[in-house]
Amino acid sequence: MSFFDVDRVTREANMLNEITAALGSLKAATDILGGMVALKNQSEVQAKVVELTNVIINLQHQLLGMQAEHATQTGRQAELEAQLRELSEWAVNKAHYRLHRFDAGGFVYRYKAQDDDDSAPHDLCTQCFEKHIKSILQAAEPEGWHKALRCPHCSSVVLVERIQSSGVTISDPPRESWRGF
Ligand SMILES: [Zn+2]
Repeated sequence: MSFFDVDRVTREANMLNEITAALGSLKAATDILGGMVALKNQSEVQAKVVELTNVIINLQHQLLGMQAEHATQTGRQAELEAQLRELSEWAVNKAHYRLHRFDAGGFVYRYKAQDDDDSAPHDLCTQCFEKHIKSILQAAEPEGWHKALRCPHCSSVVLVERIQSSGVTISDPPRESWRGF
């Protein structure tokens, strides 16, 4: 927060300096024009025109700088507003989920059913959840002897529970032999 404040104070100070410089240039231009009334000959007028042109060029640069600064500030403000909106939407979303641990040890964020909505029960990927991404886990191929869910966004696999072996006792095979199936 303090970083943003320092940044904002610096930008406001720059803007103020640019405005002060632009007003100074306008004052200089007015003085030159005022002095031109008293000029006697062509060469004096030409010298003042050159001086005035330089002041006007400076003023143009100062105004362009202010325009760019204004555009930067407007863009930054829109960006901060979008972040704020995203955070408040996420806070509402997050309140609908709670951390759940499956028997096999995998963690998910499980949807808390609301009285007033008919959303299907579902689980979210914890890794994506921490990044404020709502990614619904999908049923995947078993991982070894475990039912598994997979995140379609980051491809994380969550172990759900051990598959029952219908009465036949089978020891776990080496995991490598199951890779790729
Ligand atoms: Zn994920």
